[in-house]
Amino acid sequence: MPSAGVKGRAVKEGPSGPLPGQGAAVAVVVAHPDDESLWAGGLLLSHPEWRVFVAALCRRSDPDRAPKFYLALKRLGADGAMGDLDDGPDQRPLSEAEVASQVLSLLPAGVYDLVVTHSLRGEYTRHRRHEETARAVLRLWREGTLHAKALLAFAYEDGGGAYLPRAEEGASFRLSLPCPVWAEKLRIITDIYGFREESWEARTVPRMEAFWRVGASEEKEFWAREVAAHP
Ligand SMILES: [Zn+2]
Repeated sequence: MPSAGVKGRAVKEGPSGPLPGQGAAVAVVVAHPDDESLWAGGLLLSHPEWRVFVAALCRRSDPDRAPKFYLALKRLGADGAMGDLDDGPDQRPLSEAEVASQVLSLLPAGVYDLVVTHSLRGEYTRHRRHEETARAVLRLWREGTLHAKALLAFAYEDGGGAYLPRAEEGASFRLSLPCPVWAEKLRIITDIYGFREESWEARTVPRMEAFWRVGASEEKEFWAREVAAHP
């Protein structure tokens, strides 16, 4: 697998446990090609020693976005696959079973040291596919169908649309990205995905990444609240 080759490593802040080490099998499950880079690009660029597989559940038939996804993965030092769930502008709700089966069909079977996915409430206000992806992955993990030693969810909020998404204050841990890592992530969004400088995506690219460690005792209460709020 190619090394990401970016100098500098994100600085981890927070009391949450260690991240997996050399050769760890890591799966990133996202709704759209670009979510992996926007929300976790710094994490992945900082860990070229991981074996990363990214599953993007939508846009396989999008002739513009699909090839860009694979170019982005090359920069991130990852392999991956795309699905083709409906991603129309009306965000028709999808059944949890449909989303879950797409996840399982894309991810290579096996035991993962770490799975990273969306938050149950998404990263901004709002995209239904993000939330549906989170619910399906969480369900598969809790059932034991998706074998992972640890699960991380993106931890961002946008104040209900009041500002661009930013790292949540109370997240399990936050990663402050060194300039070269942040710049590389921004280049993936602008040069590879082709988002213009003034686009929402390019302006969002977080300098600070943040994650919930799902299942850790300190977040039990948080997740119970989240699940209750999204029955
Ligand atoms: Zn998305």
